[in-house]
Amino acid sequence: MPKYSAVANSPRQRSIRDLLPIAIERLKESSDSAELDAEVLLCHCLHKNRSFLRAWPEHQPSPEQCAQFQRLIEQRSEGQPVAYLTGQREFWSRNFKVSRDVLIPRPDTELLIELSLALLPTDRPCKVIDLGTGSGVIAITLAAERPLADVSATDLSAAALNIARDNAKQFNTNNVRLIQSHWFDRIEETDFDLIISNPPYIAHGDPHLQQGDVRFEPGNALSSAENGLQDIRMLAEQARDHFKAHGRLLIEHGYNQQTEAQGIFKHLGYRQVCTHLDLSGNPRVTSGIWE
Ligand code: GLN
Repeated sequence: MPKYSAVANSPRQRSIRDLLPIAIERLKESSDSAELDAEVLLCHCLHKNRSFLRAWPEHQPSPEQCAQFQRLIEQRSEGQPVAYLTGQREFWSRNFKVSRDVLIPRPDTELLIELSLALLPTDRPCKVIDLGTGSGVIAITLAAERPLADVSATDLSAAALNIARDNAKQFNTNNVRLIQSHWFDRIEETDFDLIISNPPYIAHGDPHLQQGDVRFEPGNALSSAENGLQDIRMLAEQARDHFKAHGRLLIEHGYNQQTEAQGIFKHLGYRQVCTHLDLSGNPRVTSGIWE
């Protein structure tokens, strides 16, 4: 495979129309979204959106922009996730900052938001905690959508909390409090209306961990012992000491963990346990009420 070098060297080949097909060709082998990847990376270098690429195909990026684009295409062809290369990913219509210290937000997780927003009042205060917040997408989205909610968010990783802090600042959400804690270790409050988490739930050794973007994500945010269930069990167990009466627990899990997740919730004494499907129709979030 020839190196992707024609771009910066040939002044006649520097329009968007010239750059994109070469980049797409370069990515085809390693990415099944080569066209989208190339466009997003070029937009990142140009500080423009994708409609700009359509409207101005004859636009000639500067030599610096071409060189940066060339570097990003090389990194992408080595498998690095687009979100880490651009440092951002959209979630619930907001552009969140991400880094290698945090999981890349997934559309599946928007189900947690949908379910939470249906539960959280718009006209009075309530208390929410998001455990293992990572980049903060869940906590910050809820805080932004429910300005009266008092939202706490924990993570064990100080590096992750720095990203979450930047995101909270970016969206001016001053109703989010970030706390460094392993699950509930440093949480003393016992009056949460809603406890929510997207914990690590992939089984250690799952072949999925060796594929695609996942290879570059922090392992301790992805996988858990006991066939992926240890953290879900720990969270559901600890959460019981932190609810207001009739508090609700919502936990994201793997598409094949519905039976086990429901088993854990029921065994621990949660009521009205049920599982909700994500946009692809997979069981993704189990919920229960603590009476
Ligand atoms: N849903 C992610 C995946 O399957 C895993 C996220 C998680 O472990 N919380 O790649």
